Amino acid sequence: MIKNKVLDALVGMAVGDALGVPVEFLSRDLLRNSPVVEMVGYGTHNQPAGTWSDDSSLAFCLAESLCEGYDINKIAKSFLRWYQEDHWTPHGKVFDIGVATSQALRRVRDGVNPLVAGGVTEYDNGNGSLMRILPLAFYVQNMPIDERFEHIAMTSSITHGHIRSINSCFIYIEYILELLKGIDKMEAFQNMQKTVNAFYKEYSICSEHEISKFHRLLGNSITESTQIYEYPEHEIRSSGYVLHTLEASFWCFLKSMNYAEAVQKAVNLGEDTDTTGCVTGGLAGIYYGIENVPAHWVEALARKNDIFLLAEKLFKATQK
Ligand SMILES: [Mg+2]
Repeated sequence: MIKNKVLDALVGMAVGDALGVPVEFLSRDLLRNSPVVEMVGYGTHNQPAGTWSDDSSLAFCLAESLCEGYDINKIAKSFLRWYQEDHWTPHGKVFDIGVATSQALRRVRDGVNPLVAGGVTEYDNGNGSLMRILPLAFYVQNMPIDERFEHIAMTSSITHGHIRSINSCFIYIEYILELLKGIDKMEAFQNMQKTVNAFYKEYSICSEHEISKFHRLLGNSITESTQIYEYPEHEIRSSGYVLHTLEASFWCFLKSMNYAEAVQKAVNLGEDTDTTGCVTGGLAGIYYGIENVPAHWVEALARKNDIFLLAEKLFKATQK
């Protein structure tokens, strides 16, 4: 039987998200004194233990939509269903939404084409598309790289249309595709760097200036050879800026030995704890597998059975 990696991914993501929900916005200093080590409830959003946030809600909407093939209008509609009708919420009500996402979804509601609904300025680079992009990896995995990039760009642009957000999603998915090969995470990291750097060389999709923003992840700077996992913690930031989230997630994942360690590290960086937990949890879930996620964390997940059914459905749909 082929292992259901969609389940590893979705559960890894949602558990990391849920671990971070009660402490969202808390500072790193505060969490250093009382770190998150368990799945607890209440806190910032006053939600019971196991409650995942908008990050997982939107990723589940995307996953569900992809079961029927790729249709940008259907994906945008399912996001709108979450926003307006509480579809794929953990307990029947939206309790958390990013500014850029709500603005973009209101544009979609008002009839704007989803491809141009997201913000496109440099200031529109919150982590709101990165946090929900993971399920797309399973849909694009057998496509050539230019088609993968195109699908990632379209999917990000519903809420986040700037090239930096798109590139962040692209780097994350390219790394996931390497991890899905079942190779060592460091080897996968080097392969991702080679693939992405070669792609940027071949296709002039953005400026050198934009590419240079990712030098700590892509190892392509001529003046700086430090790899992301070699930086000390104080040089890793964990705000809601997409580049901070992406760097922090690679850092946490590459510097950990198991699932729990990776997501605890992520959440305890503070600030945007649920999203750093979610993005890190996706990588760690795929790499270590659901069997490495503490069983009582999986049990605690809101709508656990629905998540398992969704994973089964997307797995079947993307195996064809
Ligand atoms: Mg969130």
